[in-house]
Amino acid sequence: NAPATLRDIFVAGRAHGEKTFLVYEDERASFEAFSRAALALADNLIRGGVRPGDRVAIAMRNLPEWPVAFFAAILAGAVATPLNAWWTGPELDHGFTDSGARVAIVDEERWARIAERRAGYTALERVLIARAPAAAGTESLTDVIGPVATWGGLPEGQIPDLGIGPEDIATLFYTSGTTGRSKGAIGTQRAGASGVMAHPFSAARAFLRRGEPVPVPDPAAPQKVALLSIPLFHVTGCFATLVTNLHRGGRLVMMRRWDLARAMVLIERERCTSAGGVPTIAFQLLDGMAAGTHDLSSLETISYGGAPAPAELVRRLKAAFPNAQPATGWGMTETSATFTHHQGEDYVRRPDSCGPALPICEAKVMDPEENPLPPGEVGELWVKGPIVIAGYWNRPDPDATVFRDGWLRTGDLARIDPEGFVTIVDRAKDMLIRGGENIYCGEVESVLYEHPAVVDAAVVGIPHPTLGEEPGAVVAIARGAEAGEEELRAFVAARLAAFKVPVRILLHDEILPRNPNGKILKSELKKLF
Ligand code: ATP
Ligand code: MG
Repeated sequence: NAPATLRDIFVAGRAHGEKTFLVYEDERASFEAFSRAALALADNLIRGGVRPGDRVAIAMRNLPEWPVAFFAAILAGAVATPLNAWWTGPELDHGFTDSGARVAIVDEERWARIAERRAGYTALERVLIARAPAAAGTESLTDVIGPVATWGGLPEGQIPDLGIGPEDIATLFYTSGTTGRSKGAIGTQRAGASGVMAHPFSAARAFLRRGEPVPVPDPAAPQKVALLSIPLFHVTGCFATLVTNLHRGGRLVMMRRWDLARAMVLIERERCTSAGGVPTIAFQLLDGMAAGTHDLSSLETISYGGAPAPAELVRRLKAAFPNAQPATGWGMTETSATFTHHQGEDYVRRPDSCGPALPICEAKVMDPEENPLPPGEVGELWVKGPIVIAGYWNRPDPDATVFRDGWLRTGDLARIDPEGFVTIVDRAKDMLIRGGENIYCGEVESVLYEHPAVVDAAVVGIPHPTLGEEPGAVVAIARGAEAGEEELRAFVAARLAAFKVPVRILLHDEILPRNPNGKILKSELKKLF
């Protein structure tokens, strides 16, 4: 019974009524209060001229107004277009002009970045600013929906019936831009709504494998409380966290931005049952646990994805958090968040994998001539399923270089074992070739992570006149720990073929630079060599 549209998700969410949905600092909104605010804004957007298919840009940090803006756009039949809050002026120019947004819902900081540039956004007609009075050429969102505390008192509202169907465009999320200019990924209503099945499917899998009946969820079970520490403007924050919890009645404890000290306070105060996001956050939670200053025992799940997670991480988490299950997954903006899901005994048994594809999806591995490869062999991962996007905005794919016969070519290198477990080996482009031998950066990084002093590691190609490239590594060492370049090289040499051993290892005393999605900026690191 998968929901088919994000409107279905909204309807399911509203049914959770007076339970608390959003927590932000000392503000709280129930599911009903949130629904009223979203309906009030949807009504305002429709009256203001938004028509089905129009893009409504959302450019703000995690605030309770973010989910309101997102669902208001959806309910108005518009294409919700979240823009990255870390983007600078020129990047925002790309988001606004590429999407052709007619309306923007922003916070003050984003407005400050675009106020001077707005004239260039020719399609943009209205700007609504959250938590601020109207400035010249803008309107105040607070004038429309009021402060969070008053949302419950807004009129009940009625869900507009605009005949939007599962195949209509619902969202435009921009990819991280790790490999070039950020691309707008066209998400359908169905793609956005189907991801909520990820958790039930994963939970069911273990029972099915043991031949036991799948338990029906207990409606009286205590509410799940998720610490939302990753941005809502990426698919994991929006679909895997916001949409999933709206659907199942989970509570979101929102952080404006990730901060370990603050996270620990919130986990303890709100008794959060899940936390995580990206591997970096999971590593920091280990530090938090080791500090022993806060009670983190309410955590049942620590989940992360979006970037390679070394097998060592799951071992460290198991040891440090006896009550919490590590969970991971692989996905991309193009798969509307989690495409594979991995947790529990399976994950502990197969810590190198990011789990099997969701049962509603299919995955295969192809060689460069586009022939399917047998289990265990490394090739490009191709994926298919209802959560896969319909295409890229303003970028037709006439040669089917990305979309082929209903499949999406991911650009990631992977292998799939006979049980269906997917292991991401690397990005096709994050591999280096040393004298004809392929070296997958991720493989060497995993070994470096096994060294107890290593908290962060990145392997990049260093140009070499005859070999083409040689592996180099940048490694961050734990505070107080000691390990020299030679020791680390010997450590890798004891575990991997000689050609894979980094010829140079640069030591860093801080975590390596990453983009907001947790991905290491390898282009920056290459410059260090
Ligand atoms: P762009 O496509 O604009 O260059 P991007 O690919 O970094 O940027 P995203 O859609 O945010 O943009 O990221 C998806 C990519 O993240 C995947 O293709 C994969 O390379 C990486 N990734 C996601 N999850 C995992 C994981 N569990 N393990 C390893 N890599 C992962
Ligand atoms: Mg990509």
